[in-house]
Amino acid sequence: MSPLFKRLQQKITKKRLLLAVKRFVIVIVCGFLLFLLLNILFPLPDKVEYSTIITDAKGEVVNAYLTPDDKWRMKTELDEISPLLRKSIIAKEDKYFYYHPGINVFAVGRAAVKNIFRMKRTSGASTITMQVARALEPRKRTVWAKIAETFRALQLEWKYDKDEILQLYLNLVPYGGNIEGVKAASLLYFKKNPDHLSLAEISALSIIPNRPSSLVIGKNNEGIMKERNRWLQQFADDGVFTKKEIEDAIAEPLQASRTEVPHYIPHLSYKLKKLSSSHTVRSNIVLNTQLKIEKLTEDYIRTLKLKNINNAAVVVIDNRTHKIVSYVGSAQFFDKTDGGQVNGAAAIRQPGSTLKPLLYALSIDEGLITPKTVLSDVPINFNGYAPENYDQKFKGAVTVEYALEHSLNIPSVQSLRQLGKDKMIQKLVACDFKQIQTDQNKLGLSMILGGCGTTLEELTGLFSAFANNGLYVQPQFINSKGEGKKVQVFSPSAAFMITEILSKVNRPDFPINWTATEHMPKIAWKTGTSYGRRDAWSIGYNKNYTVGVWVGNFSGLGIADLSGANTATPLLFKIFNTIDYDSNSDWYTPPKDCELRQVCNETGLTPGQYCNNLISDYFIPLTSSTTNCNHIQEVKVSADSSLSYCETCAPQTGYIRKLYKVIAPEMQDHLYSNGIAFRSIPAHNPACEKIFKGDGPIITSPLNSTEYYVNRKNPEPLQLSANTANDVSKIYWYVNNEFYKASSAKEKQFFVPKEGPLRISCTDDKGRNRNIMITVKYVNM
Ligand SMILES: [Zn+2]
Ligand SMILES: [Zn+2]
Repeated sequence: MSPLFKRLQQKITKKRLLLAVKRFVIVIVCGFLLFLLLNILFPLPDKVEYSTIITDAKGEVVNAYLTPDDKWRMKTELDEISPLLRKSIIAKEDKYFYYHPGINVFAVGRAAVKNIFRMKRTSGASTITMQVARALEPRKRTVWAKIAETFRALQLEWKYDKDEILQLYLNLVPYGGNIEGVKAASLLYFKKNPDHLSLAEISALSIIPNRPSSLVIGKNNEGIMKERNRWLQQFADDGVFTKKEIEDAIAEPLQASRTEVPHYIPHLSYKLKKLSSSHTVRSNIVLNTQLKIEKLTEDYIRTLKLKNINNAAVVVIDNRTHKIVSYVGSAQFFDKTDGGQVNGAAAIRQPGSTLKPLLYALSIDEGLITPKTVLSDVPINFNGYAPENYDQKFKGAVTVEYALEHSLNIPSVQSLRQLGKDKMIQKLVACDFKQIQTDQNKLGLSMILGGCGTTLEELTGLFSAFANNGLYVQPQFINSKGEGKKVQVFSPSAAFMITEILSKVNRPDFPINWTATEHMPKIAWKTGTSYGRRDAWSIGYNKNYTVGVWVGNFSGLGIADLSGANTATPLLFKIFNTIDYDSNSDWYTPPKDCELRQVCNETGLTPGQYCNNLISDYFIPLTSSTTNCNHIQEVKVSADSSLSYCETCAPQTGYIRKLYKVIAPEMQDHLYSNGIAFRSIPAHNPACEKIFKGDGPIITSPLNSTEYYVNRKNPEPLQLSANTANDVSKIYWYVNNEFYKASSAKEKQFFVPKEGPLRISCTDDKGRNRNIMITVKYVNM
């Protein structure tokens, strides 16, 4: 060959090569662009619906729900795929999984050749990626289907990394019946999470998809073991596992059979499933404690069935972590006759007296009261609202402590009026009371007696603030890194003072039939009974736990025998005795800004000149009131004690000094009507011109802001009556600022009112005055 020819030939070869390369590049680029186009036109159908799984605090599955297509398909998280599981699945299904782009060209070729020569079909042609593609979009086995699957496999590899594809595979692979994925299979066959499966168990599971109808765990375990051991031998031959590992796996028996999905904490699970968008919801439930409390609740309600009390709910918060560790929605979930599926812990119910501790704590922080402050428990009318006590009796002068222990109504309504209900509502809203937030503009003073809507969850959360020095930390249902919202609801000192009162054992709401064991942990607790005896509450706490108990009927049926003290508290005590038995939990000590002082036992105020009986009382310096008590006053009276004088009108000589107890108008009436003797201050000097400070008479009839309907033809007179202080002997009535009549303080008067709005005024002989407004309507009766 001539050199020229040689050069020419080289040139042509080079040209051809370049052309070939160019063509090859074009094909690749076009192929790639086509793939991208198809990828957009036919997006990967990779939206997989998983069962919702609820786990306990340790991560063990305690409940699960079928997918919308009735499958047990639970999501295996990447960290649940153990190296052992990964290694054995890859060894069995797809040895080159980590090296091929979704299709194993060599294996496809080998399979094609074998098919052409009508040899036996071999497994292994399908990569794990191809199997995922097939599971996502099941098709009949045709050539076209094979092409579509290949495209899907490439799409999968384009979108996901290898571990994610393996995860998809493990989540979608069928394991017989309606079980899909390794997680559901390991739970339902082996009662464990996939990361705890042994080599023998993994191998047994991995052969099921090959023949799901004949290889059924629990029915054909022998056949499965034979097949399993054949694969284990294969692993040994391929050198995937050591000889020892294989020998152990082969020796392992197979005793599995299909079991049911657990359905613990049914009410909370359902709630969390609705609340959360994730497939696996890790609750804070401590299953051991939960099951004990469920049993206690069920057994306890069984003893109340005779009284027709059928339902109960319990919420337990761990005070150190603020996690909800137990949650019982009803006494028996599967009880259909009494609505066992209703969640009593989240149901909106009237709280009875359970909000009173919050009221007094807030009042302490406002400087309005301390534990020994004396309040009056006497009949009173707040603009037409006349609350009564539980026993319809009135106790007269009582301390805050006594009022809370005995859950007296009038002192609490008065305290709420003094504090301002909006302040109380604001705090409750901050502590996540949802119904109260909705109703805040409709609520009146009666809310402190239970005239509002709350849930056991909310109330238990609120009481956990007492256990936590006044700091409310939103209780956590779901396991998460950070803590929930925090609100300092009241001061540590207020929390301590209320806890001191609520932890006394000798009190009227101690359950009648309870014989406390000596190991019962010390707790503070408050009971409540709603209007109509529909709800019995008892919520208790110590440093370890806050436990909320509700007992009643979901039907709303009231029961004469039902009360917070005797119906709910025994269960509360049983629960504390069980979960906190013999605990050495230390008790609360006074915070640094909570100090002791001496106060007058008649008023709870710092002692005045004449106060003799002193008692010690907690107070908060610079917050608590420092008003001196003047329950005894020195009064200048005439020598015959028939007249009293003030500084203005006292004569130069001829008077004597006497000590008198000052009694408030409403209290005087209480003493009077209960036949309790007291000494009145003589009538004031009629010649005196001084105007006295202080409260005027309390008009007890007619009632302020009330409409009165009067018969036009035969108008009945309205009664005029008032309560006065014990230094009053005469009162004066005015109607629309016109003088009507004078009378002695206790005397009742009558008048026939004119139609329209009327201003009624009553002035006492010290010039102290009170006005009310009424509306009179004339009607034909
Ligand atoms: Zn005093
Ligand atoms: Zn005077």
